Amino acid sequence: MSRPTRRIIPIAQAAPAPRSRTQVKRFAFQAGFFALFILAPVFDLFRYDLYAGHAWILGVEWRLGLDDFLAGRIGALEAGANVLLRLFLPIFAGAGAFLWVAWKWGRLYCGWLCPHFSVVETINGLMRRASGKPSVWEKKKLPPWKADGTPWKADARWWALVVPGAVFFAFVWAVVLLTYLLPPAEIYGNLFDAALTRNQALFIGAATAVLSLEFLFARHLFCRYACAVGFFQSLAWMSNRDAMVVGFKRRRAADCATCLPDRRAACDAVCPMRLTPRNIKRHMFTCTQCGQCLEACEQSQRDNPQGPLLRWVAGEAARQNEAGFRHGREL
Ligand code: SF4
Ligand code: SF4
Repeated sequence: MSRPTRRIIPIAQAAPAPRSRTQVKRFAFQAGFFALFILAPVFDLFRYDLYAGHAWILGVEWRLGLDDFLAGRIGALEAGANVLLRLFLPIFAGAGAFLWVAWKWGRLYCGWLCPHFSVVETINGLMRRASGKPSVWEKKKLPPWKADGTPWKADARWWALVVPGAVFFAFVWAVVLLTYLLPPAEIYGNLFDAALTRNQALFIGAATAVLSLEFLFARHLFCRYACAVGFFQSLAWMSNRDAMVVGFKRRRAADCATCLPDRRAACDAVCPMRLTPRNIKRHMFTCTQCGQCLEACEQSQRDNPQGPLLRWVAGEAARQNEAGFRHGREL
């Protein structure tokens, strides 16, 4: 018996599904954190001043107290205690809290906050519109339907935004990174007066060139294979069998046949990390919990009274999700 396929919606009748509330919320988090990334040095919330030789944290000068030790005002014991309290303790406490979140919920930082991932998604979107593929390394074009069944077509004119977009983000990143090391007022002042010092111009020029290449050719590959922040979150997440995962209602896998008109999977098409969201956790090591696959499934199954097949699960349901896959059991 032939399997059902999804009805093709004519363009004239196509009514795009609205973004899910989760994705609207996630976009707000990403935009807010990107603004914080730019403004944190400006308001001395977080930066290191190479001229002054100390950090700024939440508007307060943060010194390790080594100057006092070198000047003989305090002894070695007190200097050691200062380094422990003002450097190692905050670093370990911050890293511990960060990894605890990852242990429980996965790479939420990546999918909901990271300013690099925001660029990954933006450039992916522009490239998809220009070429039909989210990156130059993708072999096949994406299906010519959105998850809600509305047709779309790539348009080469979007290339006019892809390269300038990547260079623009690279430039913003380069300038902002420099303000984490040198006084922001000086960097922005010199930039607007076209009076950057030779070293400042070299830093911004070199960083813009390297980041432009990264944003154009290796953006999600960096997140997958090269980012230490992402890697340690993934490790923490993998070590917890109860952690939140994208769960798949395996029992209803036949419904996937009607996902897109060409029987391809809407969830595969939208994943910015190029994962197969119905897969086992071991193969989802770099999942950023962005939830785009969940939204795609919700939209593709919007006429299905049983609802979507993908949803976030945790605890016992997360274990069962894995067990179901491992032993071919149904959920
Ligand atoms: S599998 Fe789903 S939640 Fe994970 S990165 Fe891909 S789209 Fe996002
Ligand atoms: S899990 Fe949902 S989005 Fe993915 S192929 Fe099946 S129906 Fe489509």
